[in-house]
Amino acid sequence: MLNFEYLRPSTVTEAGAMLGKMSEARPLAGGMTLIPAMKLRLAAPTALVDLAGVPELNGIKVDGKTVIVGAMTKHADVAASADVRRLIPALADLAGGIGDAQVRNKGTLGGSIANNDPAACYPAAVLALGATVTTNRRKIAADSFFTGMFETALEPGEIVTGVTFPVPAAAAYEKFRSPASRYALVGVFVAKTTGGVRVAVTGAATCVFRASAIESILAEKFSAEALASLRFPADGLNSDLHGDAQYRAQLVGVLTKRAVAKLS
Ligand SMILES: Cc1cc2nc3c(=O)[nH]c(=O)nc-3n(C[C@H](O)[C@H](O)[C@H](O)COP(=O)(O)OP(=O)(O)OC[C@H]3O[C@@H](n4cnc5c(N)ncnc54)[C@H](O)[C@@H]3O)c2cc1C
Repeated sequence: MLNFEYLRPSTVTEAGAMLGKMSEARPLAGGMTLIPAMKLRLAAPTALVDLAGVPELNGIKVDGKTVIVGAMTKHADVAASADVRRLIPALADLAGGIGDAQVRNKGTLGGSIANNDPAACYPAAVLALGATVTTNRRKIAADSFFTGMFETALEPGEIVTGVTFPVPAAAAYEKFRSPASRYALVGVFVAKTTGGVRVAVTGAATCVFRASAIESILAEKFSAEALASLRFPADGLNSDLHGDAQYRAQLVGVLTKRAVAKLS
């Protein structure tokens, strides 16, 4: 039997104080990853600080040319949001393609990016759109947030409060989903941003990454034809029972071309 305390704060400040008191306390979002991990004894927190009762973490706001999504906002709410559909339809599509209905109605943006599963979809959007992650302590640029497999720049006890997505000129997400879990075997998010073309790849390696060689080609000429001779290198990509590195490299090329074709 796994013993742990269950705590239910109603503000971010209260949640931060609870997490600060116990070194092995962990925030609980929808529990889509954390609860199975506890059942499998892969995680054994001494306390769960349930963020479900913190209203300030939930919801979607438009502020100038940005869309701010609260950490506890469910994937289903992002998929259905009229504001997200209007301003960043690729983000709404991505959220609507995550897992199944149960996962989309329990899983959250904050839980997804804090977990940083190598095959998760949201990290690709956060990175390609050049978003900013806000926590109870600071703001972290997407380029510095995802640091490794299941690792992020978050410090112990730090709480993601929301993500600010700049509205891109255009963006598209293409994913080749695992038929069993619907996670990305490979997913590619392409965005035309004020800072140039950004391409983020998930599922292919141990951590989401920017495909800078592809970004350079697309900066010169934004078209699927410009990628015709692209041979994405398999070095360092994942090989597992779902597909080897060569297969994933091939998928990166195919999915990037599909995303770019959608936008051309
Ligand atoms: C069957 C299945 C299919 C899935 N398919 C996909 C898919 O296709 N694409 C995809 O992208 N994802 C997929 N997921 C992942 C899912 O979308 C969830 O986002 C993910 O499991 C995290 O769940 P959660 O938000 O409930 O967070 P939890 O499980 O509650 O928490 C996950 C981790 O994040 C930490 N955490 C949670 N919230 C915060 C916060 N605000 N600040 C700091 N740390 C926090 C927790 O302490 C824990 O370590 C799938 C999951 C399942 C179970």
